[in-house]
Amino acid sequence: MHPDHLRTLEDLRRFPVVTKADLRAEQAEHPPFGRYLCIQRSEVARIHGTSGTTGKPTAFAIGADDWRRIANAHARILWGMGLRPGDTLFLASFFSLYLGSWGALAGGERLRAGCLPFGAGVPGQTRVAVRWLLETRPTAFYGTPSYALHLAEVAGAEHVDPRDFGFRVMVFSGEPGAGIPATKRQIEEAFGAACIDSGSMAEMTPWMTNAECEFRRGMHLWQDIVYCEVCDPRTYEPVAYGAEGTPVYTHLERTSQPMIRLASGDLTRWVDGPCECGRTYPRLPLGIYGRLDDMCIIRGANIYPSAVEDVLRTIAGFGGEFQMVISRERAMDELVVRVEYGHDVARRAETAPETLDALRERIATHLRSVIGIRPVVRLEAPGTLPRTEFKARRVVDNRRLYEESVRSTPGGPG
Ligand SMILES: [Zn+2]
Repeated sequence: MHPDHLRTLEDLRRFPVVTKADLRAEQAEHPPFGRYLCIQRSEVARIHGTSGTTGKPTAFAIGADDWRRIANAHARILWGMGLRPGDTLFLASFFSLYLGSWGALAGGERLRAGCLPFGAGVPGQTRVAVRWLLETRPTAFYGTPSYALHLAEVAGAEHVDPRDFGFRVMVFSGEPGAGIPATKRQIEEAFGAACIDSGSMAEMTPWMTNAECEFRRGMHLWQDIVYCEVCDPRTYEPVAYGAEGTPVYTHLERTSQPMIRLASGDLTRWVDGPCECGRTYPRLPLGIYGRLDDMCIIRGANIYPSAVEDVLRTIAGFGGEFQMVISRERAMDELVVRVEYGHDVARRAETAPETLDALRERIATHLRSVIGIRPVVRLEAPGTLPRTEFKARRVVDNRRLYEESVRSTPGGPG
């Protein structure tokens, strides 16, 4: 490709996409940053990276000019969410290689909000957070949806009403939860604050360029900072407004590791209708609700963990945590949904054990009507399932385990 090939926005769709696998391969061959650094090594002001939980970590190098642009972009977007100078922003996320926390901090500071980079992930830290929140009274929160729900749970155990923290705006990224209607409602009810969804990918920092405004009608695409096309995942041609596809992102401002058509692998639907805020950016009305690769196909049905979560959160008696286990028995896929019930259900079940049967049946029926297959529902006592202070990993796929074990068994099927 040559710069002459780009005359109009329509020309962009003819450019090939770059994938995360391409970036990883390039960095493996030319460590640490690959040949797409595009600034001098001496101009690198910050180095970040991925945690590498799903493969080799990726290294991000950001120049000082870019860091300023990132702060400016995030300040604009946080303003759109309703933050103002004089607000205090409580950042309850990991301060590590993870870019999310630092990007939110840069934006908060640029906006001239007071920032409290509290962090997360240290054992016992959430109980300490409850005390700090009551004493410092921040007006805004940044973190992951699963952490906010965990914080509400810990506060409850300390006999503190999360509404007493006094948050007005809660900004989320890192997980799809804040875009899932039932989870959004649950967070808003627990904290009495506006739950605002945001986030694209670390590679695309300023990652806040997908972000809801204060009216919360789905994430706007801030096209003047990062240009996003929602594309057919096979051809990478943009799909029509109203249709589903995968976001493909192009940096307009970055000079360090700028991306031209980075394929996200996420799934979303985009629309171009008006918004009450007056912004004319397209929107993702349901947020980013899945990934091309974590959508589970079970007996021919496409199943998103976010859809299961949405159903569970509407069911009275649901204890707040769940896990999906997919297994293959005798070549037949089975979905087991492990669901925690609440403390009130546990109390009732002591004298009326049929309470659990009724709850199990209600969950299985509801899930079947939404996801198309009837899962095996296994009820778990409150507090049984692993809690996360960061990204929830709620899908366990055991099918590969089954396939590997039959392949290594002489005379086994397949
Ligand atoms: Zn808006």
